[in-house]
Amino acid sequence: VVELRELHKSFGALEVLKGISFTAREGQVVSLIGSSGSGKSTLLRCINMLEIPDSGDVLIDGEAIVLKGNGQGRSIGDEHQIRRIRSELGMVFQSFNLWAHMTILENVMEAPLVVQKRARPEVEDEARAMLDKVGIGAKADAYPAQLSGGQQQRAAIARALCINPRVMLFDEPTSALDPELEVEVLRVIKLLADEGRTMVLVTHDMDFARSVSDRVIFLHQGLIEEEGAPDQVFGATKSVRLKQFLNAAS
Ligand code: ATP
Ligand code: MG
Repeated sequence: VVELRELHKSFGALEVLKGISFTAREGQVVSLIGSSGSGKSTLLRCINMLEIPDSGDVLIDGEAIVLKGNGQGRSIGDEHQIRRIRSELGMVFQSFNLWAHMTILENVMEAPLVVQKRARPEVEDEARAMLDKVGIGAKADAYPAQLSGGQQQRAAIARALCINPRVMLFDEPTSALDPELEVEVLRVIKLLADEGRTMVLVTHDMDFARSVSDRVIFLHQGLIEEEGAPDQVFGATKSVRLKQFLNAAS
């Protein structure tokens, strides 16, 4: 469960988030949509404190992340807590950021071995099963550069899954991919959604958001302009701004 309470975030004089609150419950998929610059990535990055909100709280399974100070001078309050919480959140970005000097299998095994200090044989079995699940089991011993973009992104998803995260965070995981490669990555994310994983997903793909989400949130100029079930948001919106956005996106 991810809960955001009244998040505010500015970069200098630019106010990007103006008071955002929402909850992604256990097993829910929440999608964030909105035009470029509306603050979607900033909001997602606030969840694991890659960006520190100027005010407001982030709670993971009811536990508030501790921050100290005020406003733009706010910082992590408890290094131990944030390390633990980050290790419970799986994050997949637009770019694949796999370690180039490690094989795909080694990439997936790194965090469970080094951070979680689990036993190698067990981790290896799990890592191979995870790679099978995302459809690249045969690539376990290849290096990232030897994989297509879609395969690399699926490896990044397998790596994030291997720590058995309580929540998966995705920031436009297919936007760097050609359309034909996009499909296989979306299929993997859909599979995770159907398994009942808690996810917060930034996407520009409205058809995908509609098919995968329990709830859709439309950000506009730093505020939630509209939120609800996909059918409501895409089919019965009253927001003129959302209608304009959807028309431009289709
Ligand atoms: P896109 O759809 O293009 O990815 P977005 O909704 O993810 O857009 P953000 O990346 O959250 O938007 O950016 C929101 C605003 O904050 C933009 O105007 C951006 O230029 C600004 N911004 C983001 N990160 C920083 C930063 N580290 N320093 C200064 N400004 C930033
Ligand atoms: Mg973004």
